[in-house]
Amino acid sequence: MKYSVVAKKASSKEYLSCDNRSTFQLMCSNRIELARKPVKCPTCQSKPVAVILYGFPAFSSDLEQKLSAGLISLGGCSLSGDDPAWRCATCGQEIYRKAPFTFGTDGPQEQ
Ligand SMILES: [Zn+2]
Repeated sequence: MKYSVVAKKASSKEYLSCDNRSTFQLMCSNRIELARKPVKCPTCQSKPVAVILYGFPAFSSDLEQKLSAGLISLGGCSLSGDDPAWRCATCGQEIYRKAPFTFGTDGPQEQ
């Protein structure tokens, strides 16, 4: 579905006359990075936004309650090193934690 939209845009004259920024935003529109956990989902504005727990947490009635209330979401035990920190309980939008700005390290530089 999404790919056909991209292909249609890419073949139109309108697309060819503008820069690549619009395509970039289109391709990356699913990735949201925030420094803090948002109160509302940035995509659908609903709440709560769940904290994703990785690994196998000890199940308790408290955890079960938070899971059913949509406050916590389980992310499984596979970590790729680039995993979302929060997930919207309503639309499933995943939100990544924005890495704090680091100065003078050999990490990826941001402008
Ligand atoms: Zn949402």
